[in-house]
Amino acid sequence: MKTAAFLGLGAMGGPMAAALARHAAETGGQVLVWNRTFEKAQAHAAEYGTQAATLEQVAQANVIFTCLPISADVDEVIGQLEKHLRPGTLWVDCTSGHPDAARVQRARLLERGVKFLDAPVSGGVNGAKAAALTVMLGGPADEVEAVRGELAFAGKVVHVGDTGAGFAVKAINNALLAVNLWAAGEGLAALAKGGVDLSAALDVINASSGRSNATENLIPARVLTRAFPPTFGLGLLAKDTGIALDVVNNVKGSAPVLAQVNALCRAATQMIGPHEDHTALLKLVEQMNGQEIK
Ligand code: NDP
Repeated sequence: MKTAAFLGLGAMGGPMAAALARHAAETGGQVLVWNRTFEKAQAHAAEYGTQAATLEQVAQANVIFTCLPISADVDEVIGQLEKHLRPGTLWVDCTSGHPDAARVQRARLLERGVKFLDAPVSGGVNGAKAAALTVMLGGPADEVEAVRGELAFAGKVVHVGDTGAGFAVKAINNALLAVNLWAAGEGLAALAKGGVDLSAALDVINASSGRSNATENLIPARVLTRAFPPTFGLGLLAKDTGIALDVVNNVKGSAPVLAQVNALCRAATQMIGPHEDHTALLKLVEQMNGQEIK
């Protein structure tokens, strides 16, 4: 029987592990779950038919998935698990991590005969619940092919390059999210200040060339409504834009707009709060303009 283990049952990990459990029920496998706050693993098991397990137990799985906030958290868990790991295990890290960390983690795990793939995801909590995430994989082609069929939470799987490339693509994607969100916020704040109705403005923009996921989905559903539902933390977005900047600097690139949006995300994380939804980035635009975006 094939055993998968999922470590980190947060906003993303919880529904991703549930998708693995649905797949395992169809294929005769089993899914072990571990969470730092262990009660969450027990609650997950009760709700989704997974099995709450200790770190020693999860080390026996064929595939180990992690989805933790940052690569340093994954390092910590690798440290705790290391002595229990078995050769032949595949470690798939779905954290939006750092490319440099991925290379070190892979080398460290290979010493134990464990293969490591960076496999960050996009699609948000709704995408995870619908098992429709996009997964961007970094690592050797044969290992990527071996894991494709295990990614039951995915709607789309793309091999983007060698170890670290998955994390690099994810970071740049999220930097683009931040740029689009911030820029749309600036424009809409100005329009609101000038007395333009923002629903009408978005109606036009979303039928025109200035549209983005920010204008089509995020701003109408989360900002204009003032709901800002906390599904993806502002602190995590600031982390991602920081990684994107490292990706640029590692190749001695020049990206002044990405540098600026990272600084703005960091400022907003300090001023608005790391656990606010990422769309609360626009509360900083509002403060700068003395104008709510609504
Ligand atoms: P959450 O904050 O909701 O969950 C974090 C999880 O990590 C919790 O299970 C938490 O355990 C655990 N954790 C935190 N620190 C440690 C540690 N040092 N050791 C062990 N476990 C730890 O995060 P998300 O699910 O939102 O995000 C996870 C990753 O996915 C991030 O890298 C994020 O950038 C990325 N991501 C998030 C998306 C989203 O929409 N939320 C979308 C796409 C990617 P505990 O319960 O004990 O706190």
